Amino acid sequence: QVRVRFAPSPTGGLHLGGVRTALFNYLFAKHHGGEFILRIEDTDQTRFVPGAEEYIMECLAWCGLNPDESPVKEGKFGPYRQSERKPSYRQYAEQLVAAGKAYYAFDTPEELDQQRQLQPNFRYSHENRLDLRNSLSLSDGETAKLLADGAPHTIRIKMPEDEHVSFEDMIRGRVTFETKLVDDKVLLKADGMPTYHLAVVVDDHAMEISHVFRGEEWLPSAPVHILLWEYLGWKDEMPEWAHLPLILKPDGNGKLSKRDGDRLGFPVYAMNWTDPKTGDLTVGFRERGFLPEAFVNMLALLGWNDGTDQELFHMEELIEKFSVDRISKAGAKFDFEKAKWYNQEWIKQTSNADLLPQVNAVLKEHGVESDDNFTNSILDLVKERLIYIEDFWEQASFFYLKPAQYDVDAVKPKWNADKTAFFQDVAKTFAEQDTWTAESLEPLFKDKIAASGMKMGELMMPFRIMLVGGKFGPDVFKITELLGKEAVLDRIQAALP
Ligand code: GLU
Repeated sequence: QVRVRFAPSPTGGLHLGGVRTALFNYLFAKHHGGEFILRIEDTDQTRFVPGAEEYIMECLAWCGLNPDESPVKEGKFGPYRQSERKPSYRQYAEQLVAAGKAYYAFDTPEELDQQRQLQPNFRYSHENRLDLRNSLSLSDGETAKLLADGAPHTIRIKMPEDEHVSFEDMIRGRVTFETKLVDDKVLLKADGMPTYHLAVVVDDHAMEISHVFRGEEWLPSAPVHILLWEYLGWKDEMPEWAHLPLILKPDGNGKLSKRDGDRLGFPVYAMNWTDPKTGDLTVGFRERGFLPEAFVNMLALLGWNDGTDQELFHMEELIEKFSVDRISKAGAKFDFEKAKWYNQEWIKQTSNADLLPQVNAVLKEHGVESDDNFTNSILDLVKERLIYIEDFWEQASFFYLKPAQYDVDAVKPKWNADKTAFFQDVAKTFAEQDTWTAESLEPLFKDKIAASGMKMGELMMPFRIMLVGGKFGPDVFKITELLGKEAVLDRIQAALP
């Protein structure tokens, strides 16, 4: 049974790397008919940020990554918030101490700060642990007394002095670590809360997690986790791990950070996030106008492909085709232009009916209410040009409102009485038409141009400007058709000198 978990810490909004981790977990689980679990890793109470958990859940829902088990959908492995599992961790830390794999450390925060001041690179490790205040350096009697007196203490893992720890990463293959380079991580804090390292192992075991996909930044922690699986006697049940490649800055120079987004003007968060402390708003893909399908598709291709040139995938297809073999080891460059391309493609692929509510919202923002059939026909004409739904207004506002200004410079210098006469004649002929379609009007207009002896462009462009206000928009006769006779005649008259 495949069971994977997305295990974010509720410390703020979700960066696109976080959502990609969730996505890869989800795709792997669903590809194998398994379960996708959301576990909230909130044991570090100092980093807890109100609203972050709700944000995470809303974000998963927006992306269509619905957990099979989560804090709001309890399965049989609950609770799904680590803070609510607090009582379950101490026994394992104590078990490790009893087995000689961990120890009590009584050093106060002040003592540790002092050490850090003395040596900027201070690490609590096999090199100095006998010089510090813990159950390895103190006598059994001293330790027992401190514990009996209720002296505040942490429990630290006792890293072996000189061993090699290795495992088979699903993406990277064999990875080996030297324990002498790893410090004695705290497992249980003085407040009785586990640290991430202990909690992640205990919970992955308790929740019967079979595979773990997580960011590459967790690779250095892997030796600690492997040893814990072994020391707790669960080595045979250890999940398989995959450490996902980093998401890099557009120029490939280092990891993408929130600051790059601010600097280069693109979102890196999934949805808007307002920091409750500072009130600072970080704009998200959702509010920037991305469709969730486009966002998910773009993320899936950051570090994965199906081995062909195909770039557009919907969720069902991603689930079907996802395979760990095709995840790359190398970091994936984030390219915002490409992200926009995905959105444009997804808008093209989405039915008008599905786009209408969002388009109507854009219209409403501009004070326009309109008939859905009319908007539907306009969407057919301009859909291909939309990178974001809100571009609809720029591309199509002239259908709803008479141009407020005309691009006079484009026509005026060459305007003359012949042209005025030409358009008066056009208006007269158009007024007599009962059939009002692009196909019927175009030949009429073009025949008149031919008869006038003037050039096509000299008259087509002014016609467009009369209807639209500028040199843009879809086929001018389609515009003519959709605007309807009354509006077209009105706009011609209004524009003539
Ligand atoms: N709580 C960790 C995080 O916030 C999860 C790491 C893991 O998946 O093991 O990223």
